[in-house]
Amino acid sequence: MENKKVALVTGGSRGIGKACALELAAAGVDVIINYAGNAEAANKTVEELKALGSDACAMRFDVSNQQEVEAAVAQIVEKYKRIDILVNNAGITRDGLFMRMSAQNWLDVINTNLNSAYYVTNPISKIMIKQRSGAIINMASISGIYGNAGQANYSTAKAGLIGFTKALAKELASRNIRVNAVAPGFIQTDMTKDLPQEQIVDKIPLKRLGEPEDIAKTVKFLTLDATYITGQVIGVDGGLVI
Ligand code: NAP
Repeated sequence: MENKKVALVTGGSRGIGKACALELAAAGVDVIINYAGNAEAANKTVEELKALGSDACAMRFDVSNQQEVEAAVAQIVEKYKRIDILVNNAGITRDGLFMRMSAQNWLDVINTNLNSAYYVTNPISKIMIKQRSGAIINMASISGIYGNAGQANYSTAKAGLIGFTKALAKELASRNIRVNAVAPGFIQTDMTKDLPQEQIVDKIPLKRLGEPEDIAKTVKFLTLDATYITGQVIGVDGGLVI
C-alpha cells in the first residue's frame, strides 16, 4: 500500500488554514496543524481532522521563532517520517498608516508573515529534496501584488513571499518539488471580521466575500492535482483585481 501523504499547515487551527487542513484531510492526507496560542481552537480542529480519517495532531510553535520551528520540524519527522505538503499560511496584520507605524508593528508582521517562510521552509525543503518530491504553498495576498494603503508592512511581507515562491520554484523544480503562492482577496475569517463588509462586497465582481473553503479548494488543487504547475501566484479574490 502506498504511504499516506503528510502535510504541515501553519496557522491551521482557524480560518483559511483550518479549511486547508480539512480539505487535505478529506483527500486522504495526514495533517499536522500549527498554531500560536489558541489551544482550544487547535484541539477542536484536530478532532474534525481525525473524524475525516487523518492521523492529525496540533503543534504549538511560533513560526517567527527559528529555534521553535526547528524543534517542531524535528518532532514531525520523528513521528511521521516524511513531509509531502507544506502550507505556509500563518499570518497576522498590524494595520496603520505608514507615517504612524511603529518599528515593532513593522517587524512583527515581517517576522511572522515573511521571515517565517525561511524558518519553516528551509528545514522542510531539505526533507523534500531527500524524498525527491513535495509541494509548497505560500499564502500571499492581493495586497502583496497591488499594495494596500494602511498595510505597508503586510504588503511588503506578502510581496516578499511572491518573490520567494518564484525563486524557490526555479531552484527546487529539478528535485520534483513544486512551489506556488495563493493570493486571497477578502475572505471571511477572524482577520477580516471588523472590516466594512458591505463596502467591500460592492467592489467584488462575484458580489460576495470569499469563504475559507474557496482558498482550501485551490490549495488542494495546487498541492495534489496540479502536477505541472509551479512558480505561479493564483488569485482567489472573486474577481476583485481583474
Ligand atoms: P486568522 O483567522 O487570523 O488565523 C490565523 C492563524 O495563524 C491561526 O491559526 C493562528 O493561531 C495562527 N498564527 C498567527 N500567528 C502565528 C505565529 N506567530 N505562529 C504560529 N501560528 C500563528 O487568519 P486567516 O484570515 O485565516 O489568514 C490566514 C492567512 O491568509 C494569513 O497569512 C493571511 O495573511 C492570509 N490572507 C488572509 C486574507 C483574509 O481575507 N482573511 C486575505 C489575504 C491573505 P492562534 O489561533 O493560536 O493565534
